Amino acid sequence: MEIKNYLNERYNIVSGSLSDIIAVKADIKPLVRLSCKKGDMSAVVKTMNEDGLVVQSKKDPFSSQFFLYVSKSSNIINQAKKFDNTFTHDGMSNDAMKRTIINFGKFLGYPECCTKFLTENMPLIAKEIKWKFHPRGDIDFSFNNTLNSITNHYLSFHQSCSYTCPNSRKYLHDIYKAIGKEDSGFQKDLKKHLKAPYLLVFNLGLKLSMAWDRRQGFLFDGEVTKNQIKYNDFSFFNTTYPEYDNSKIDDNIEKLKESIKNGNKIIIENDSILILRDSELIIEIKNSDTFKTSIFNFV
Ligand SMILES: [Zn+2]
Repeated sequence: MEIKNYLNERYNIVSGSLSDIIAVKADIKPLVRLSCKKGDMSAVVKTMNEDGLVVQSKKDPFSSQFFLYVSKSSNIINQAKKFDNTFTHDGMSNDAMKRTIINFGKFLGYPECCTKFLTENMPLIAKEIKWKFHPRGDIDFSFNNTLNSITNHYLSFHQSCSYTCPNSRKYLHDIYKAIGKEDSGFQKDLKKHLKAPYLLVFNLGLKLSMAWDRRQGFLFDGEVTKNQIKYNDFSFFNTTYPEYDNSKIDDNIEKLKESIKNGNKIIIENDSILILRDSELIIEIKNSDTFKTSIFNFV
C-alpha cells in the first residue's frame, strides 16, 4: 500500500496545502503562507497571478526556502506579515506572543477558539495537555490533518481545539466543498485518505508543536472497532523537517514496523500496544513518555 501524494498540476511545486490555496480562491481564508524553492518561485507566482491571487515572498530564516504569502489583496498580506509567528520574537512577553499568534491565525481564517486553545497549551509538554477529544471514537473526516507536511491529503494546516469544534467543522467543510467545485478528482482522492484509520506514534516528552512535527505513523486498509485495528495492508509515514534530521529515532519504531508487517491486528491497551497475527501475539510494546501510540478513526 502506498500513500500517493496528489499534486494539482498547477501547484505542484509549492509545499503546503493545495486545499489552502483553493480556500483563498474561494474567499474562505484571507491568506495562506506556503513554502517554495527560489528556483521555482517565478513559475509559482505566475500561476497564482493567473488565478487572481497576489503573492509576496520572504526568505525563511530557518531553511533555504522562501515563504509565499498568498491572498487576493496585498493590503491583507502587508497587515498579516506583522503577526507572522515563524520569525523570532526575542524579548517579546508571553502574552504579546500569544496575541501575535491569535492575530496571524485570524488572517489564516482559523477559528479563534482553536488558536486560543493552542496558545494556551503551547508552553506545556504534550503529555500535560488535556485533550478534549477521544482519538479512538468516530471523528468526522474533515478533522484529519495527519498527513500535513507529508502529502496534500488534508483540508488545512489548522489544528482544531477539539474533534467536535463546530467552528472548525464549518471551516473545514467549507474548504471541502470548495475543493469539489475546483477539482472533483482531488476531492475524491482526498476523502479516501481522510477516512482511513491511522495509528500515530508520539513522543509525549516534547512540547506540543514539536511532538506533532515529529509524529510518525501508519495508515491502514482496515477497520477500527473500539481499541482494535484489523487490517489487510498498511503504509508507514513520517515527517521530514530538516531541523529534526539529527534527532534520535526510537528503537521501538523499527520493532513496530516489522511486527505490523507480519501481523494483521493491533490492540491498544492503556499502557501498551499489542500486535497480533490472528490470535498469536507477535509483540507487546509498553508506553513511555517518548513512545506512545494512539488510534485515530475518521469516518
Ligand atoms: Zn475550535
